[in-house]
Amino acid sequence: MHSELEEFIASSTLCNTHEHTEYERFYRDSRHDVLTHLFDNYVVFDLHSAGASQKSLDALIDPSDPDVARRFRDVQTYWDRIHFTGYAEGVKLAAKRLFGIDVLTPEALSAAQETSAYKGEKDERLTLLKDVANLDHVQIDTNTRPFPPEMMGQDFFLYDLNMFDFCSGRPDFDVLEGQLGTDATSLEELGGAIGRLFDISARYAVAVKSQHAYVRTLKWEQRSDADAAISFGAVRRLGKAAPEPDRLCLGDWCMSRVAEMCARHDLPFKMHTGYFTKNNFMPTENLRAGNMDVFLKMHPNTRFVLMHIAYPHSDELIALAKHYTNVSIDMCWAWSINPLHASEFLRRYLRGAPKNKLFVFGGDTLLPTSSVGYAMQFRKWFGRTLGREVADGTMSEDEAVQLAEFFMIDNPYDYYDLIRRKEIVRTSDADSIAKLGHQGAFGATPKSIRDSGRA
Ligand SMILES: [Zn+2]
Repeated sequence: MHSELEEFIASSTLCNTHEHTEYERFYRDSRHDVLTHLFDNYVVFDLHSAGASQKSLDALIDPSDPDVARRFRDVQTYWDRIHFTGYAEGVKLAAKRLFGIDVLTPEALSAAQETSAYKGEKDERLTLLKDVANLDHVQIDTNTRPFPPEMMGQDFFLYDLNMFDFCSGRPDFDVLEGQLGTDATSLEELGGAIGRLFDISARYAVAVKSQHAYVRTLKWEQRSDADAAISFGAVRRLGKAAPEPDRLCLGDWCMSRVAEMCARHDLPFKMHTGYFTKNNFMPTENLRAGNMDVFLKMHPNTRFVLMHIAYPHSDELIALAKHYTNVSIDMCWAWSINPLHASEFLRRYLRGAPKNKLFVFGGDTLLPTSSVGYAMQFRKWFGRTLGREVADGTMSEDEAVQLAEFFMIDNPYDYYDLIRRKEIVRTSDADSIAKLGHQGAFGATPKSIRDSGRA
């Protein structure tokens, strides 16, 4: 027996506001097999945390070795230890949906490999995301610039303009000068370059993204031009070897320029907050969203999206969305990090802050098969969460269905102005881009998103 609410959540399309979906070419070239489709995602970090060696995990997701049964058998002890984690749940849901596997065993995986329908065909990514996961679109952070030419002439894969290097205080001068054809040899020129980067790119982006939390504290201070100019000199001279105070100073200064440009071009500024991927390098105080309170206050006309519910500092994030008119929250990645925490977060959020400042889903992953698992996991827990509200009598089933539709479709469409944004990329081609002088925003994709070297 399916309730109307479960039916709706299971069958409705879903906006996906954060992924790192691999480019078509690199996806097809990777020759994925059943184990990479299922395990080449966050789950390896839970396996590592449970004791699996790096060597066995590298082998698990190496499709050049055809012995699927042995590759899985070597990590099976650890798989058993993470049976109840959110990452493992995403794997199990994808295994069932894509390969008909009820219980992961060496034999079942071996058999699935023989009959796998997912061999890297043309447009397989799109089919998995659009038809299997039933997504409306995905918003992709490629971790780098420039934009890939493949984003033109379609409106399913939308892209963030990535500003990680600026916010980290270590601008990628080679990429910047390549894109703009001009040097950035002073702080003033750097500021001008950020402006021009937005001038040529903003039209095609759905948002701006930075994950600088991975390389520096989120703590932000206002910086004078004089101080930032000194730090610029050190960073320009020493690159990544520049002292941390200089990188922080230049990064803070750049964040302000980026926030100003976001306001001018009406692009939301997405920022990573909270939990780190991978293993063994997470400074939990640095990644609190509250570290940015002064930054949020100093840029009242910029719309900020704070991502991943700042796990584990999630209630602080609700307080920020409740208090600051310019702060929204994206639950991307949160359901797989810890689905029970995400479920309780959603219920607490509804009691604390306006519903139009919350986005509920993004898989935050590279492979479309992983996105399928995470989308299924979202639908399961999101349905369960709203079902609890109905059972508790805090809303009627009709109201819960309406709320589900609001979160899954209407709110992202409204906030990201998706009808207009989709039309722009759908109708853009090399000619129209050249006519506007925006060619620098696009460039051949030199390396895969996986190999971008940025978390
Ligand atoms: Zn991400």
